[in-house]
Amino acid sequence: MKESNNESLENLRHSASHLLAAAVMELWPDTKRTIGPAIETGFYYDFDFSKPISDSDLPAIEKKMHELVKSWKRFERKEVSASDAKKEYQGNPYKLELIDEFSKDGQKLTFYTSGDYTDLCRGGHCEHPSKDLKHFKLMSIAGAYWRGSEKNQMLTRIYGTAFPSKKELDDYLAMLEEAKKRDHRKLGAELELFMFHETSPGSPYWLPKGLVLINELVQFWREEHRMRGYQEIASPLVNKRELWQISGHWDHYKGDMFIATMGENEVYGLKPMNCPNAMIVFASKTRSYKDLPLRLSDTDILHRYELSGTLGGLLRARSFRQDDSHNFVTEDQIADEYERIFEIAERFYGVFKLQFRYRLGTRPEKFLGDAATWDRAEKALTSILDKKVGTGKYEIAEKDGAFYGPKVDIIMKDALGRDWQMGTIQLDFQQPQRFGLKYTAPDGTAKTPIAIHRVIYGSLERFIGIITESFAGSFPLWLSPEQVRIAVVGKDHRAFCHDYARTLMQAGIRVTVDDSNETVGNKIRKASNEKIPFTLVIGDKEMKSEELAVRTRGAKDVVPTTRDRFISMLQQKIADRAIDLTPLP
Ligand SMILES: [Zn+2]
Ligand SMILES: [Zn+2]
Repeated sequence: MKESNNESLENLRHSASHLLAAAVMELWPDTKRTIGPAIETGFYYDFDFSKPISDSDLPAIEKKMHELVKSWKRFERKEVSASDAKKEYQGNPYKLELIDEFSKDGQKLTFYTSGDYTDLCRGGHCEHPSKDLKHFKLMSIAGAYWRGSEKNQMLTRIYGTAFPSKKELDDYLAMLEEAKKRDHRKLGAELELFMFHETSPGSPYWLPKGLVLINELVQFWREEHRMRGYQEIASPLVNKRELWQISGHWDHYKGDMFIATMGENEVYGLKPMNCPNAMIVFASKTRSYKDLPLRLSDTDILHRYELSGTLGGLLRARSFRQDDSHNFVTEDQIADEYERIFEIAERFYGVFKLQFRYRLGTRPEKFLGDAATWDRAEKALTSILDKKVGTGKYEIAEKDGAFYGPKVDIIMKDALGRDWQMGTIQLDFQQPQRFGLKYTAPDGTAKTPIAIHRVIYGSLERFIGIITESFAGSFPLWLSPEQVRIAVVGKDHRAFCHDYARTLMQAGIRVTVDDSNETVGNKIRKASNEKIPFTLVIGDKEMKSEELAVRTRGAKDVVPTTRDRFISMLQQKIADRAIDLTPLP
């Protein structure tokens, strides 16, 4: 069912790209057409225009598309010879190149015609364009090299999107608007969470408020993992080349690493992953089967030299920390250990009320080790997921495993319905072998353990980027950089407010006092813009009684409570890591 829906949406969108090209050719007949596929968010078509066009031309193209589609009853298919096909595209080197390529291995060429417009195409269109193809929008213009190579001509790409119904199109456009408002880079600057500087592209600076988020997430992670038998370690950020040669990173991953040469020929690499150092810690003493599972966790900062064009705020950064752990187990313990990790994932995502699902990644084309071991590992994960989620009820990403073993990814759905790959739980038979890790089995023989690499948040940086968008900057109380703002009414109330703030701080609450000369109304507005969960206005009335008037983020009413009850309510909500701020006691 889902398959055919996807296919019909793809057909609709690819048909829209024909329509876009038809409109462009009507408006600017000397344009050279190239290709126009459907993509995940809609479709595009790449053109070589004889004079540049801009965003301001998009409405006219769209209007022409609506006009033309009325006469597009259906797509007519026709087989053509290469020489006939070339006649249609005289003077268009792009299409001529495609025709040569397609006809080389004896493939038949096909033309598709709709209305007065014909294009070289392999098919995959909607049935009745004049009826089906009504709800589309051109989105943007970008430069794109012919066939993606910077050695080639730069073309103009027009992006658009299309949906079967007006409602779906409107919902999608509204979602995009909302996503723009929630962009974590925008909110991160407004809320003073983090910043970047050109001297270290892609590496965030955590500002005081943003670092609270990191620290709170790590604190929660520590508490939950300590209870489950995890032991935290920290290890060097730089290691000599020799380590990366053993781990295989030097051969497979060097291009993504920061490398430093010291003195004559001492070469170091900044760690892109924690695994090799976890292996070293495992090997540092004699281990017995009684020590397993041995769970070595850490949150050290990692560096990866991501291409500058792919950097995107916190979503793809060059320095970041993972809530990492390497769990060393015997083969018999794999299923139980996965169970336990799934339970942690449920706890974590439950706290944020985030929906998630599991996805199995299987053996990639290039893999370490032998196929039989891989088969055994994949079978183990399949039976764990069958039991956990139900046979056939989870996604399988073929060939998406890590090069050292199959994995289970955690895919999260955010408040806007977007999917994000967050945590991952990877099975590894290879690295323990490369590092010669051993434990003594019950029969006295030396055996190699299996490593499970696992992260639940994924990268903390990326997780914060995503929850900033998901919560639109209104973090749950326990995560909020500032939990309470006290708005002082007048200068006679200052001392009292600072006293009460001290009481709150002693109770573990993050509080600030606004004793500026602003009006109370402005102070309340400022606290609301900063998305602070609770705001108290304190003046004569509050000083004389035990009563407080509490303004809750996002709520209209001011709720009365006593000073002591307010504190115990905050402590309770923080201890529960509650998402809801209401009701007050
Ligand atoms: Zn087509
Ligand atoms: Zn690892």
